[in-house]
Formats: sequence, C-alpha cells, structure tokens
Amino acid sequence: MNIEKIKEVLEEHQGFRLKQAEKNIYLDLIDDWQQSTVLPSNIKEELNKECPISIEADLFSSKNKKTVKAVINLEDGLKIEAVLMKNRDGRNTICVSSQVGCSLGCKFCATGKMGFKRNLTFSEIVEQVIFFARLLKKEDEKITNIVFMGMGEPFLNYDNVLKAIRKLNDKDGFNLGSRNFSISTAGVVEGIKKLSSEKLQVNLALSLHAPNNTIRSEIMPINKRYPLDNVLKAVDDYIEKTGRRVMFEYIMIKGVNDSNKEAEEIAKIVKGKLYFVNLIPYNSTGVFEASSQERTASFRKILEERGVSVTQRFSFGKDIEGACGQLANKNK
Ligand code: SF4
Repeated sequence: MNIEKIKEVLEEHQGFRLKQAEKNIYLDLIDDWQQSTVLPSNIKEELNKECPISIEADLFSSKNKKTVKAVINLEDGLKIEAVLMKNRDGRNTICVSSQVGCSLGCKFCATGKMGFKRNLTFSEIVEQVIFFARLLKKEDEKITNIVFMGMGEPFLNYDNVLKAIRKLNDKDGFNLGSRNFSISTAGVVEGIKKLSSEKLQVNLALSLHAPNNTIRSEIMPINKRYPLDNVLKAVDDYIEKTGRRVMFEYIMIKGVNDSNKEAEEIAKIVKGKLYFVNLIPYNSTGVFEASSQERTASFRKILEERGVSVTQRFSFGKDIEGACGQLANKNK
C-alpha cells in the first residue's frame, strides 16, 4: 500500500476525492477500492491499478490467540514485522516497526543482529496499523494503543514516525488519541529533545536495561555515543517541559543486569522522579538467558521497597517468537 501515491493519483481530480479516499482507508478500512461507496468507478479502477490497498503479510498467532504477529512484505521485497497484543483489560496494542533492521546492535536483540537496511516510509509505518485495524474490525474490535517498539530506533527515522503519528491522530481520520501512542528510544538524545518541543502528548519510553555505563555499554553500544548521564539529563528536561511520566524499560537478563546490587542502583536513579520501571522478561535470542521468576520478583521487591513504581510485562507471544526482530530475521 502506498498512501503517498494515492495523493499523486488524485491530484488530477477534485479536491474532495482525496478526503473521500482517506476516509475509505482510515475509517471504513476497505482493502479494495471497489468497496468504496463514494468514489466513482473510473477513479476506483484508476486507484486499483495505480495504488492497490491490499497488504501482503504472513500471520502467526500464539496458542492463546492473544498475540498475533504479521510479517509484512514491502514493495522492494524486504520484510518488517508488527505485533498485535490483546490485553486482558480489553486494550488492543499494536507494536510497530520504524526501520527495516537496526543500526544500534543491542546485544540482546535479534533485529540488532540483522543490521540496518533502511528507514520505513510514512506509508509503510501507517500500513502496519491499518493491517491490524482491518483484522480487528472483523471481530468488531479496534486498536487502542500504538507503541513504537518494533524493529528499529524510531528517533533515527524521526520525521516519518512523527508524520505517521500525526496522521493516525487526525480527528477526521483514524482518530487515535495522542496519549495512546508511545515511542521507545534506546537513548537518542537529539530525538528526546526534539519530542519535548512537539505539540503532541505522546508517551516516551527509554530502553534503560542497565543501571550504569559499564553494563549498558556492554549490551547497548549506543551508550558509548550517548552515555547514561546525558540520556537521563535529556529525559529530565523532557519531563520538566512536558510534565509527562517516562517509562524505563528493563529487560531482565540472567547474570547481566538482574542482581540485587543492580536493583539498588536503579532505585537510586529512579527514586523521586516522574519515572516508572517496566520489567520485561527476556525472550532468548541465543546470546543470553532470561532471569528466573524468583530473581525478577526479588529485583522488583527491592525497587518497590525503595518507593519506585514498577510494572511487569508478562511475556507476549513467546511461542511465535514475539521478541523484536526474531521472525523477520529468520525469514530473511
Ligand atoms: S533493541 Fe531496539 S535499538 Fe536495540 S538493536 Fe534492537 S531494535 Fe535496535
């Protein structure tokens, strides 16, 4: 699906045709222009020829059907993945990718191993959302949250990510509230600064994963470019400017970042600030092992005893290799 191309094709027609076509895509969620009840047949034919809106993807569903992963084929033959997570509380969260592969090479991440291929276009980001919105519509359900936590570093494709958010937030279109978007960064300071100046109330998450520069640089090479102090300063400035809480994501990796000492260090960083910590079980990519449940419970207890707000993500989609990058990497 190429949304930009639709604009080009409709430029030759009356202005309201583009509005009608966009309504068809974002609200009616049609997957063939022939389904449009407002466009005349000559335009439908032209659109179907020049810019069809079907989305080619392979679907993988977890045993409990709560996690569905789509491996979407792009026009140039590359593949990206997006994941639907159905929460028990009724939320339907879509985890989207912002790049094909990733240049940051975090040691625990399968996407990092793929290396970087290219940035996704605005249209390719939106396409992931539309794909799942169509799927959910069949079950009379809707997307409630969108998180940029899939393949790639969103702040290294800043303009397209923000353009996609603005489009999906548009009241006359998809109309998902800005507070329902989250952007997760590995710590690109310029991106954090830029986001704090946007007039958009989206959520920011930081992939922290380590309490100090030694461990962080070992598992996240980006820490050498943006050391922890600089990243935390940028996050503090963001909070001061926006008044919004920031989530620190922390993947629990056995023997690497999960000791009591590291929990104490995290508590010192987080205490008294508008941060909260989300502990994430590690889906093994073959390099490290996941922390045990007992270790994670002790880690959590230390944080909570020191007044830190903690949430814990249960492992989504382990049986379909739900951790970022794993499936596309295999199918490559
Ligand atoms: S964890 Fe995120 S930033 Fe790090 S390599 Fe993977 S996709 Fe890139």
